[in-house]
Amino acid sequence: MQALVKAQADKGLWMQNEPVPEPGPAEVLIKINKTGICGTDIHIWNWDEWASTNVPVPLIVGHEFAGEIVELGKDVTGLTVGQRVSGEGHLVGNLSRQSRAGKFHLDPETKGIGIHENGAFAQYLKLPAFNVVQLPDDISDDIGAILDPLGNAVHTALSFDLVCEDVLITGAGPIGIMAAAVARHAGARNVVITDVNPDRLALAAKVADIVPVNVANEDLDSVVAQLGMQQGFDVGLEMSGNQLALDQMVEAMVMGGRIAMLGIPPGKSPVDWSRIVFKAITLKGVYGREIFETWYKMISMLQHGLDVSRVITHTFDAAEFQAGFDTMLSGSSGKVVLDWRNVS
Ligand code: NAD
Ligand code: ZN
Repeated sequence: MQALVKAQADKGLWMQNEPVPEPGPAEVLIKINKTGICGTDIHIWNWDEWASTNVPVPLIVGHEFAGEIVELGKDVTGLTVGQRVSGEGHLVGNLSRQSRAGKFHLDPETKGIGIHENGAFAQYLKLPAFNVVQLPDDISDDIGAILDPLGNAVHTALSFDLVCEDVLITGAGPIGIMAAAVARHAGARNVVITDVNPDRLALAAKVADIVPVNVANEDLDSVVAQLGMQQGFDVGLEMSGNQLALDQMVEAMVMGGRIAMLGIPPGKSPVDWSRIVFKAITLKGVYGREIFETWYKMISMLQHGLDVSRVITHTFDAAEFQAGFDTMLSGSSGKVVLDWRNVS
């Protein structure tokens, strides 16, 4: 099969021939139709410090996918050949205290497909049957291919009760934009999203009914005043990984506000902890998706009015992966999808 491989410890990825994986007794083989390019894949492409210390070589990359089951391991029950599926890319064990309590997303032994184990940028992927999520007929392969980052957005946005609350999202990358759409869908009052990139803010306004603010040249406080908000934001979703954005968020929160942080700062960064203490702010780190409650909620929302389709701004044939990565590297796209159906 053809697969996109980190074949050498260097910048880039290489499309090359690889053996079709053989599913174990509790695994399924999935024929890949569409995949999403993630920010993580960009780190791996660039072979930055994080990637070069965490990712083994050679490795088939990619973890956002939709496809169909073509083979079942001998012990697999409840799934059938031909089913359209996506799946959880975090491979978890069942021995830790967290897993045994059903909190699989907190398993310290978690490994990622496309990061530690061979992934989904290929014609075929093997995956534990446990990780498979069936796609209902009314969810397309394009949306199926971005359920992983939508799941990050849903997990973060639903961390705190946001019904009738004022929500601030910092970072209008694909995940921040989807989180804004989720917050709106779930019943927030004002949803404000900040960025410093006008293309990203324009995309956010196309995807959801939110207030975009370019903090490079607009004053967040005056937007807050225009919205008639009295004190500050009740819920903050940090989706940029940028220290300045977190500082601005803390300042813009109400006393007792709640912040969920998905964005990953590049390294240690200074934080004014006294502001967080005196404002009595609750901070929650968010990793991955809740397995499988986030999947349940997001599919339910997609089937009942949540529309994030416009966050997909580009689709390329997998053979044109270079163009797909160039588009992502521009920093102005939404989600970029690769189509694997015509690969031969
Ligand atoms: P992205 O890099 O595409 O988007 C981040 C956005 O933040 C960019 O548009 C950038 O212009 C903007 N930004 C930069 N400085 C800003 C500032 N001062 N104020 C407001 N916005 C600013 O990222 P993404 O793919 O949408 O992912 C969002 C974040 O979530 C990233 O940090 C990513 O690493 C992280 N992430 C975490 C997990 C997890 O499990 N915790 C999973 C996936 C992604
Ligand atoms: Zn991802």
